[in-house]
Amino acid sequence: MKVTTGIKCDAKRIKAGGAAFRIGEELGSPHPRELDLKDLAMYRNVLVREGEIKGAEGRLLRKGKNGVIHVRRGIVPEGRRRFTIAHELGHWELHEEYSQLLCSAEDMRDYGRSPLEVEANCFAAELLMPNSHFRSACGTLEPSMALIESLASDFQTTLTSTAIRFADVSKRKVVVIYHQNGLIRWSYSDPRKKLLFVVPGKPLPAYSSATLELAEVSNRMEHYDDADWFPQVTWEKPDVLEETKRMSGLNGGLTLLWFP
Ligand SMILES: [Zn+2]
Repeated sequence: MKVTTGIKCDAKRIKAGGAAFRIGEELGSPHPRELDLKDLAMYRNVLVREGEIKGAEGRLLRKGKNGVIHVRRGIVPEGRRRFTIAHELGHWELHEEYSQLLCSAEDMRDYGRSPLEVEANCFAAELLMPNSHFRSACGTLEPSMALIESLASDFQTTLTSTAIRFADVSKRKVVVIYHQNGLIRWSYSDPRKKLLFVVPGKPLPAYSSATLELAEVSNRMEHYDDADWFPQVTWEKPDVLEETKRMSGLNGGLTLLWFP
C-alpha cells in the first residue's frame, strides 16, 4: 500500500481549498446549507445527472468548456451525495488535463494515497465546510464522535471529511485515523500542530476503542490504558483520549484521538 503523509500534500491541499474558497466568495460566502450544488455546478458549466454507475460513486466527463457530473442514484445520506457532487466539481476545477475521472467510495475517503483524490476531497471540504462558518460552529467544543456527527449533519457532508476538517480548524489537538481490516490505512492531523504521528500500514493497537468488542467500548472519548497508538515512542507515552465509529460493511472505522 502506497502511503504519503499529510505534510507532503500540504501545498496542494491548500491550493485545492483555495479554489473552493474563491467560489464561495464569488457567491457571497453563504452557509453551505443554502448552496444548491446542482445550480452551482451549472454556473460553472457543469451539468449534474443522477443514474446508474457500476462500481463508482461519481464520474466527471469533460468536453472543452463543458462538463457532466454523473452521481450514482440512491446515495444516502444526503451529506454523502452532496460530498460526491462537490468532489467531482473539485476535479472539474482542479484537473483540467483529465477528460474523464471515475471515483469510488474509497476515493471519497482518500486522504493519503492518490494526490488527485486528496485534492478533490480538500476542495469539497472547503466548499461544504467553509473555514469561517465551520470555525464558529466548532467554537471551543471538545472533540467527540457525537460532535463530529452533529457537524456533519449541520453542514450536510460526510463523517470522514468533517473529522478531518475539525482536526484542521478547531484549536483542539486531534488525530483522525481511518482503518480497515485491522490495519491503519491513513492518519491525519494538522501539520501546524506537530502532533505525534500514527503510522499507516501498521495493525491497530490491541485493547483500543477500534479493536475491543463493542460491548467493552464506550460511546464517548475515553482513555484506554493498554492501547498503544504510538509504538515508535520509547519515552513516556502521551495521555490520549479516543473514540471510534465502526463503519459497518467496510470492516473498518474512523477513530478520533485527542491530546487533551
Ligand atoms: Zn475523485
